[in-house]
Amino acid sequence: MAAAATASAVAPRARQPPGRGGVDDENLVFETTPGVEVITSFDQMGIRDDLLRGIYAYGFEKPSAIQQRAVIPIIRGRDVIAQAQSGTGKTSMIALSVCQMVDTAVREVQALILSPTRELASQTEKVILAIGDFINIQAHSCVGGKSIGEDIRKLEYGVHVVSGTPGRVCDMIKRRTLRTRAVKLLVLDEADEMLSRGFKDQIYDVYRYLPPDLQVVLISATLPHEILEMTGKFMTDPVRILVKRDELTLEGIKQFFVAVEREEWKFDTLCDLYDTLTITQAVIFCNTKRKVDWLTEKMRSNNFTVSSMHGDMPQKERDAIMAEFRSGATRVLITTDVWARGLDVQQVSLVINYDLPNNRELYIHRIGRSGRFGRKGVAINFVRKDDIRILRDIEQYYSTQIDEMPMNVADLI
Ligand code: ADP
Ligand code: MG
Repeated sequence: MAAAATASAVAPRARQPPGRGGVDDENLVFETTPGVEVITSFDQMGIRDDLLRGIYAYGFEKPSAIQQRAVIPIIRGRDVIAQAQSGTGKTSMIALSVCQMVDTAVREVQALILSPTRELASQTEKVILAIGDFINIQAHSCVGGKSIGEDIRKLEYGVHVVSGTPGRVCDMIKRRTLRTRAVKLLVLDEADEMLSRGFKDQIYDVYRYLPPDLQVVLISATLPHEILEMTGKFMTDPVRILVKRDELTLEGIKQFFVAVEREEWKFDTLCDLYDTLTITQAVIFCNTKRKVDWLTEKMRSNNFTVSSMHGDMPQKERDAIMAEFRSGATRVLITTDVWARGLDVQQVSLVINYDLPNNRELYIHRIGRSGRFGRKGVAINFVRKDDIRILRDIEQYYSTQIDEMPMNVADLI
């Protein structure tokens, strides 16, 4: 698609060897299109005043490393592929860029943001509404499991931005309730997940309905090679802002393992850790919904207070549990990979992999639920003998170190 390649400070295509960035969250090496400017304050980004006010009121003082690099090309209309560690402000960057780019005088959908889970799509909508408070932005989250009537009402009333999951968005487009003629920007958050087999057809389905001069922005903490290779098909001369894989490991998140001889022993290990879990907020990942239900029951019948959430629960219940957990009223959440990507609850500083995830990318996303925006985080992996190999593979792939859990792990949180 032909992105509006307006006058830009960014030279096209060619790669350069990685160079060192200079600020804060970045002892990171960015493998980046040459010429990408680094703008170290929101004031210098040419952002409209009433939006700037919203950004500061939301509590942001200074752009993060990825924001310093990617906001400008995005708001200038370039196709952008941006990768940075979990918790470094990528989704927030989308929220503020979208606010800058829509013309609020035009009550039509101008930006479409697609996310892999309903909770993430709703979270992004809320950040947009908060940051864009002073520009009166109208945003709506279009997600499965919610009333279609409400979607229709909101969309017919007129919104500037839709943040949704692919299935419902596609449905709304096909009903012609979501009119696409004014859409100028498509964002895929958690882009590698969105372009993976499960979602690819739905994304393509949506894409077909969008105008030809569409701007496309992809963001994620992980962007495997095979995904990057696909981007040529629907992006034009994208600006790339990529972090090298071995720089991706989550700085500030200490990673440990507990060796358990047998699966059954994981439960006792978790019970021993319960007091540690509740020091802060903790998320416990299992690989299946059944296991989440089983573990939740077992914890409760042993008088531990835990919440749980997975994709087979009715959306109302999922929403209630999210709200409760966000408020801090519940401290321990047992869940599946529905929670692995994007969700931001700043108080979470401990992640437990009751089961090791099925792939390397998921590992990074899961443990990235802790240590948000430079906070401290701890990840603990329960590892059976046969899993040691998987753990070593993760260590090697991300050039990171996962030590045996120390006695004083609570002190590290
Ligand atoms: P990512 O999408 O990279 O995982 P998020 O956009 O979800 O990161 O942001 C992670 C956390 O950091 C959120 O709580 C967000 O409010 C906060 N945050 C993002 N950008 C900034 C900033 N410039 N200054 C302060 N906090 C920020
Ligand atoms: Mg995100």
